Amino acid sequence: MAKFAINLKKGTIAKDSDVIVGIDLGTTNSLVAYIKDGESVAVKDENGKNTLVPSVVHFKADGSTLVGEEAKQKLVTEPENTIYSVKRLMGKSFNDVESVEQYFGYKIINEDEDKLVKVRVGDKFYTPIELSSFILESLKKRIEKVLDATVRKAVITVPAYFNDAQRQATRDAGKLAGLDVLRIVNEPMAASLAYGIGLKADETKTIAVYDLGGGTFDISILQIDNGIFEVLSTNGDTFLGGDDFDRAIIDYWVDTYNIDKELLSTDKNFSQKVRLLAEEAKKVLSSTDTFKSEINGLNIEITLEKFNELVQPLVNRTIKACKNALKDAEINVPEIDSVVMVGGSTRIPLVKSSVATFFGKEVNDSLNPDEVVAKGAAIQADVLAGNNKNLLLIDITPLSLGIETVGGLMDTIIPRNSKVPNRSARQYTTSVDGQTKLKVAVFQGERDLVTHNRKLGEFILTGIPPMPMGLPKIEIQFILDADGILKVKAKELRSGVEQTVEMRSQYGLSEEEMAEMLIDSIQNAQSDMAKRAVLEAKNEANNIIRSAEKFLEQNGRLLTEEEIATTQSLTTALKKSVEGEDKDVINQAMDDLNQFTSPLAHRAMDVNIKEAMSGRKV
Ligand code: ADP
Ligand code: MG
Repeated sequence: MAKFAINLKKGTIAKDSDVIVGIDLGTTNSLVAYIKDGESVAVKDENGKNTLVPSVVHFKADGSTLVGEEAKQKLVTEPENTIYSVKRLMGKSFNDVESVEQYFGYKIINEDEDKLVKVRVGDKFYTPIELSSFILESLKKRIEKVLDATVRKAVITVPAYFNDAQRQATRDAGKLAGLDVLRIVNEPMAASLAYGIGLKADETKTIAVYDLGGGTFDISILQIDNGIFEVLSTNGDTFLGGDDFDRAIIDYWVDTYNIDKELLSTDKNFSQKVRLLAEEAKKVLSSTDTFKSEINGLNIEITLEKFNELVQPLVNRTIKACKNALKDAEINVPEIDSVVMVGGSTRIPLVKSSVATFFGKEVNDSLNPDEVVAKGAAIQADVLAGNNKNLLLIDITPLSLGIETVGGLMDTIIPRNSKVPNRSARQYTTSVDGQTKLKVAVFQGERDLVTHNRKLGEFILTGIPPMPMGLPKIEIQFILDADGILKVKAKELRSGVEQTVEMRSQYGLSEEEMAEMLIDSIQNAQSDMAKRAVLEAKNEANNIIRSAEKFLEQNGRLLTEEEIATTQSLTTALKKSVEGEDKDVINQAMDDLNQFTSPLAHRAMDVNIKEAMSGRKV
C-alpha cells in the first residue's frame, strides 16, 4: 500500500526535504501543524503562547492588512474593515448567501447574483479566496519562522459537506498564498487521524465526529475500512456555535444587572468589551464553578449552574442533529465505535456529558479540541510525503476516468469524486460490419474530447467474432482498487471473449495539475460542447450513410430508378457535408436523406415481411 506515497509525477520516492504542513482553515480560528520527531505538533505564535490564529483579516486605512489576534481586536470597533467568517463565503454566489447577509458586519457585493461573491472594503473588492489566502499566508509565515525554511506544500482541511466549488476555492486560496495544496482533506477524517483512528491496516470502524466550533456545528458519521474513509452522512447547523453561548451570557447579564441596552448597541468599544468578557466567562466555566468580574465598575458574575441552564437548549439542538445524522447513515447508536470531539466549544462540560450520554460511551477528548483537525491534517501530509509507508488514505477519486469513443469523444465510466474502491461498467458495440478488434483507450479528465484529457493507456480487445455492426455487446468495466490502481476489463458478452489490463491511475498527477485540468475544463466547456456537437453529428451521419448504402444494396430491386438516383445523390450530399465542420449543414443533409428514404424503407420492410410470411424467404 505504500505506492501511494511515491511521487509518481517525478517517478521517484518523495525525498523532498520540504515539510508538508497540515492546515485547519477554520471559520473562527485557523492553525498550522507539522510532524516533528514523529509527533504532530500545532505551531505556536512568536511568544510561544497560542496555536490559534483567529480567522479575521483587518484592512488598515493605508490598505495594509492585519491577520489573527490583532485583527480580532478590531472586529467590533471597525466592522466594515474587518472581515471574519470568510469560510462561509467560499465558493458561494450572492444567491447562496443573500438570506444570511445580515450576519456579516461587512459588505457583501451582489454584482452578479450567479457569480461568486465578493467583499467590499473601502473602495476595493476582495474575493473570499483572496481573503482566505491572507490567513493562509500568515500561517505559512508562522511555520516558516519555526522551521527556518520555505514551506511550499500543504494539506488543507474542509468540512465534509463542502462541495466542489468550495473545495476548489479553498485550493485556489492555497495557491494564491504560495502553497501547493497536495490534498484537500475532510475535517472529520483529519480529526479521526489525530486520534490514531483509521491509521491501522485491516481496521473497520464506524465513528461519529462531533465538531462544535465558534459559529458552526457539524456532526459526521464516517465508516473507516482499511484506510478508506467514507462519509456516511453529515448534519449540523451552520449558525450554531460558541458565539451563541457567548450571546446567552450577555443576554443574562443584561437582564440581571440592568446593563444599558442602548449603550450596548451604540458604543462599540463597550459592546466589544462585554462580548470578550462573556467569552472569557464561558471559557472559565469550562474548568470552574463561578466566574466573577466587573464591567465599568459594576460587579457581575455567572455560575456554571446558571450557564448550563442557559445553554441547554443549544446543546439539545446538536443532539437532535446527531440523531438525524445517524438516521441518514442508517446506523444505530450501539454501532458507533468511537466518538471524536472537535472544536473549542466541546470543552464545555455540559456539551461533553450530553454527547457521551447520547452515544452511551466515553468520548475521545484527550487532545486539544482546537488542534485535532490541524494535527490530523499534518498526519495526512506526512503520509503524502511518503513517511508512513504502511498507509494509504483516500476518500474520493479526484478526476473522471473513461474511454475514447468514436470521433475522439470522452465517455466517462467512473465520474470524478466517486468513492474508492469503485467498480463501474458500460456497454459498447462495433461501428463497422465484421469488426473483430476494438481499441480501448483509457483517459482521465473532465474535458469532452480525449485529446484534452490525460491518456492512461490503451489495449486492443481481439477475437471478437465477425458480426454485423451494432450487434456485438462489448462491456468495458473499470475496477478502481484502494491503491488507486485501475484495472480495465473488456468483454464481448455474446462470445465471452475478454481481456483485462491494469493501469496506474490518477496519482500520476499532482493536485496542481488536476486543478489546472479542472479549471481548463470549465473554461473550455463552451468550445468543447460545440466540437462535441459537430463530432456527434458526424458520427450519426456516417452511420446513416452506411445504412443508406446497405439499404440500396439489399433492397435496390424494390425501388424505381429515380428513387435509387435520388437516394444516391442525397447520400453524396451528406458525405460532402461530413467533410465540413458545420453541424447544421450536416444535420440538414441527414434530415433530407432520412425523410426521403424513410417511406422507401417502410415499403421495403413490408415487402420483406410479406415475402417471409409467404415462405419465399427464410
Ligand atoms: P472554528 O472551527 O469554527 O474555527 P474553533 O474550533 O476554533 O472554531 O472554536 C472556537 C470556539 O470555541 C469559540 O467560540 C471559543 O469561544 C470556544 N472555546 C474555546 N475555548 C473554550 C473553552 N475553554 N470553553 C468553552 N468554549 C471555548
Ligand atoms: Mg473547526
